[in-house]
Amino acid sequence: MRTISYSRATDVPTAVGAVTADPGSAFLAGGTNQVDLLRIYVEQPARLVDINDLPLRQIEESPGGGLQIGALARMSDVAGHRLVRQRFPVLAQALLLGASPQLRNMASMGGNLMQRTRCAYFRDLASPCNKRTPGAGCGAMHGVNRGHAVLGTSDMCIATHPSDLAVALVALDAVVYTRGAVASRDIPVDDFFLLPGNTPDREHPIEHGELIETIEVPASPIAARSAYLKVRDRESYEFALVSVAAAVAVEAGTITDVRLALGGVATRPWRARQAEQVLRGAPATVETFMAAAGREMAASVAHGMNEFKIELARRTIVRALGAITAEDWPAATRAAGVA
Ligand code: SF4
Repeated sequence: MRTISYSRATDVPTAVGAVTADPGSAFLAGGTNQVDLLRIYVEQPARLVDINDLPLRQIEESPGGGLQIGALARMSDVAGHRLVRQRFPVLAQALLLGASPQLRNMASMGGNLMQRTRCAYFRDLASPCNKRTPGAGCGAMHGVNRGHAVLGTSDMCIATHPSDLAVALVALDAVVYTRGAVASRDIPVDDFFLLPGNTPDREHPIEHGELIETIEVPASPIAARSAYLKVRDRESYEFALVSVAAAVAVEAGTITDVRLALGGVATRPWRARQAEQVLRGAPATVETFMAAAGREMAASVAHGMNEFKIELARRTIVRALGAITAEDWPAATRAAGVA
């Protein structure tokens, strides 16, 4: 039996101050991932500071026509919000394809971005894991790694990032606003997730006690024509083998602008900039989509059981782009299995 002390904060400075002052403490929001990790002793804070009373649940239009989303807004509330569904369908779809209805009702937006990998070795204290215990080794490298990453890996870690939401936010160039003990910061979401490199235990560029306050999604006309395609082993309550968040503008058969990000294949939500370069200014054809997918996945590295993901990712990119650029979009996206 371990004792964990518990307190509730009612304002942001108090919450930040309490966690910053105590290296053994942690924030508690929805708890849908964190409580799991407490139960299996992967995370062992001595103190939890409950932040659910903080006034961070807003879902509002920002002055420029984008979205301001409080870190404690629940996934289900954001997914169902009128502005999100109308202007950022890829965001609503990614949220609805994550977890289960019960979990979406509880899980917070900020907590979703901070969730830990579902690598089975990470969650098993009897297995070596560099992310959990730096320098211990990696059980997945030559183990059961069918669900692991093929992009952004290192010799230390090949774990995939589990969030669907983060993939959509990366495609939409969202910004994460944080409050620390000394200063506030804004961090482009593409910089919010670190590659594992030699320090897979360090996943975000934030300090102990630094709190996510809001997530801003900038106004983006291209986002109105966007979608999220998630391929997984079962139709519900399952993490992605491959997912694609895409927003595309097409004029007279030519792609004039595009945002593309991948989930399930990389150690962080993966902005597919190589593919975007191929797509921008090119005809919206299957040949273009295949060339873009090939360019993006050219740097991928398999580790045995996960080799199938490389071809699966190519095909998923082509399928998503084909549907979203079809003349009868959005009906074509539904027919293609895009949410
Ligand atoms: Fe740990 Fe990463 Fe290896 Fe999984 S892949 S065991 S998280 S070091």
